[in-house]
Amino acid sequence: MFKNFKLVPNVIFGRGCFSQLDEIIEKQRTNTDAWAVFVTDDIFQGKNLEKRIPLHDNDLLLWVNVDDEPKTSYVDQLTRKVKEYRTRLPCAVIGIGGGSSMDLAKAISLMLTNEGSSTLYQGWDLIKNPAIYHAAVPTLSGTGAEVSRTTVLTGPEKKLGLNSDYTVFDQVVLDPELIADVPKDQHFYTGMDCYIHCIESLQGTYFNEFSKSYGEKSLELCRQVFVDNHPDKDDKLMMASFFGGMSIAYSQVGACHALSYGLSYILGTHHGIGCCITFDALEEYYPEGVREFRTIREKVGIDLPRNLTSNLSETQMETMINVALGLDPLWENCLGKDWKSIMTRDKARSLFLKM
Ligand code: NAD
Ligand code: ZN
Repeated sequence: MFKNFKLVPNVIFGRGCFSQLDEIIEKQRTNTDAWAVFVTDDIFQGKNLEKRIPLHDNDLLLWVNVDDEPKTSYVDQLTRKVKEYRTRLPCAVIGIGGGSSMDLAKAISLMLTNEGSSTLYQGWDLIKNPAIYHAAVPTLSGTGAEVSRTTVLTGPEKKLGLNSDYTVFDQVVLDPELIADVPKDQHFYTGMDCYIHCIESLQGTYFNEFSKSYGEKSLELCRQVFVDNHPDKDDKLMMASFFGGMSIAYSQVGACHALSYGLSYILGTHHGIGCCITFDALEEYYPEGVREFRTIREKVGIDLPRNLTSNLSETQMETMINVALGLDPLWENCLGKDWKSIMTRDKARSLFLKM
């Protein structure tokens, strides 16, 4: 079966294009009561970007905190807040921030039109009704959340996305000026998430010309950003993230993402840094990629935390292995159909112990 991949229908790109957001959302304001919700990373509270958000009188500026990555309980709480704000539903939900804020915006737009808790929809194609129109404004680039058909949520029982065609954004606003001031560490972690997406996609068994075309271009852009320190690096990283997302959408990620999910589930490690820690332990599977990653890490001057797993209890370690090995398609992409005989529980444990 071939994937019938749903693409983001509208994309605007260019330095300063955030100024066109009002005009873009205006098209959704089809009656006088229409109102929009701006789901915005609270890191921008009091910053210049706050003043530039095109709020109309009836709109809601919903500050979100992403110190913890999105949880189903937080999505449910935010959705309730939006529903209580006015009797009618909003005409648009706009996510402004990194992968976490974009994912929260996607999840809220879905949960406004689908009954019950977001935990009910963690999985593939469980969403019943189309979402409210939703748009993304990335302020951090690398995750590819701006193009993907998922929103990654941690629930009481599992860390799993709301994967559906309805999840895909209706509009993406790519303004490289918005990522100019990201702190060095975060820029590296999220940028390397993109680099790792490309390596896992290009070296996977699900490899095909679609994923290769996007993945190779994205990798080339990542190198211009992190190896060449190109003057247009913000424009380039923004496009690398977009293309990296397109590449994995038509293939899959691999061992690094599978293991990093385990790490994140038990230790709460954030996605970008978690992928970096994990990738550094995977020389056996991605030798050239890991060598280049280490060169970049040294060049940028980033120290990764070590010895994260040595003090875990046996139950925690077992759970971490269960979470990681539960991601069949990622392992199949990395190691082929016979992956279970290669990535045994003991092997997974030994990899975790290297982190
Ligand atoms: P993030 O959104 O979690 O943000 C990381 C930190 O950077 C936060 O403190 C945030 O406030 C800050 N930040 C954001 N923009 C900034 C800016 N312009 N200047 C200064 N600080 C800024 O980080 P991320 O790496 O973009 O996203 C990770 C999240 O994305 C995880 O929750 C992960 O699960 C999710 N994800 C989703 C997908 C998908 O396809 N939906 C793919 C990969 C990852
Ligand atoms: Zn990733």
